[in-house]
Amino acid sequence: MEQKKFRRIGILTSGGDAPGMNAAVKSVTCSAIARGVEVVGIIGGYAGLINENLKPLTVADVSGIIALGGTAIYSARCDEFRYEEGMQKAIQTCKKHNIDGIIAIGGDGTFRGATDLSIRGIPCIGIPGTIDNDVTASDYTIGFDTAMNTVLRLGDQLRDTFESHSRCVVIEVMGRDAGYIAIETGIALGAVGVALIEKPFDKEALFNKIIKLRAEGQQSFIVVVAEGMGGTFSETLTKEIEERTGVESRFVRPAHIVRGGSPTLRDRSLACTMGDKAVDLLLQGKSDLVICSRNNQITYADIKWALIVDRMFKNKLKPGDLDNFSEKEIEDMKALCAERRAYFDDMYDIMLTIG
Ligand code: ATP
Repeated sequence: MEQKKFRRIGILTSGGDAPGMNAAVKSVTCSAIARGVEVVGIIGGYAGLINENLKPLTVADVSGIIALGGTAIYSARCDEFRYEEGMQKAIQTCKKHNIDGIIAIGGDGTFRGATDLSIRGIPCIGIPGTIDNDVTASDYTIGFDTAMNTVLRLGDQLRDTFESHSRCVVIEVMGRDAGYIAIETGIALGAVGVALIEKPFDKEALFNKIIKLRAEGQQSFIVVVAEGMGGTFSETLTKEIEERTGVESRFVRPAHIVRGGSPTLRDRSLACTMGDKAVDLLLQGKSDLVICSRNNQITYADIKWALIVDRMFKNKLKPGDLDNFSEKEIEDMKALCAERRAYFDDMYDIMLTIG
């Protein structure tokens, strides 16, 4: 039955690249082919759909990509796709090339595109692939674990040299508006402080802590700042630490280095299980869903629900956002937001205690 309806599916990666996207591409390709369905790689995200930049994928094509960072089918930001004209071109490409459904790997923008296609009759399933871990509906996104481990490695190396010179290093880490990478790596590096938008930041308390620890003999200090703090927050904080504590301080921004590298076992495993689940659901005739990891189970959520729970968590709900959801769905959103807030509260307390 399912093979008759789905002759061919498309796979794309969109938005920021993340280690493990390739593992997801491999998983989707192999799972679909094993079920008798052809796979076509849509090159460069939604732009590939508009420009008919397609590449049929075989098991052999994806055999070697599981260990590679980045994305072998490329990613791009495509503004044209946000407008009806671009969307219609994309739909024509699907019709012309017999693409019966699409699996889209990326973040919230990618899911918005997927939901727009679903509404217009092209079934789509989203897989969360972003180092930022900022898909609220999922406990983990593909790439997050690798990015954290990269920051950890860099932070440990910085500790060596900063310890030798009795200095403080302020490390600014990627994560867009989300502080997941910052808080997790801050704890793992034994940072003396972490600044992220999910928690109020007490500068005075940080200065006093550094002064006290220096008096007790501590030589080096690590402070982690989430990219979401914005502007020149990190540079300014570095100067202030030096002025207020007397500890020589430097600022380091690893930036895109954190996006690259071979994915960790955890990201590969997440990518493989999510990819297989996405194919399974798509071939069952499901659409407009995002695959999620919840409490160590691979499950799924309605994309529109997932996009709105993101906004709710970031306190960015717009009038009317909740109109089309049932009371139960809204309660579930609130419960999930409370869970995420409790996570940040707990992690922040741990950081303050052990840093
Ligand atoms: P990341 O979190 O890594 O930035 P993302 O998926 O959120 O990933 P975006 O650049 O926001 O990255 O979106 C990726 C692409 O998805 C866009 O370039 C565009 O083609 C498409 N897209 C984004 N928003 C929409 C929208 N509202 N409607 C249709 N398509 C969209």
